[in-house]
Amino acid sequence: MFIRVILFAILIFLIYRVIKSMKQSRLGKSDPSRVIHPHASGEDLIEDPVCLRHIPVSQAYIKEIAGKTYYFCGKECFEKFMLSKKDN
Ligand SMILES: [Zn+2]
Repeated sequence: MFIRVILFAILIFLIYRVIKSMKQSRLGKSDPSRVIHPHASGEDLIEDPVCLRHIPVSQAYIKEIAGKTYYFCGKECFEKFMLSKKDN
């Protein structure tokens, strides 16, 4: 019974080591520039014209207004932008 517990503990340890080495090898394979610049995910950042936050294009709320494409961080900023356009 005691041997079973030890074997189980060794098994858990081995699984833990395999998972750890898998994570390390995945990090090693990734582009080193990503490690140096954690914010550069290979994706373009665009500036929200309302709150001036920088957001990845894929996460942007994209709207075409009067033939021009605008990128917002969310619907709230888009609505603020539209309100400010109306005031002018
Ligand atoms: Zn915004």
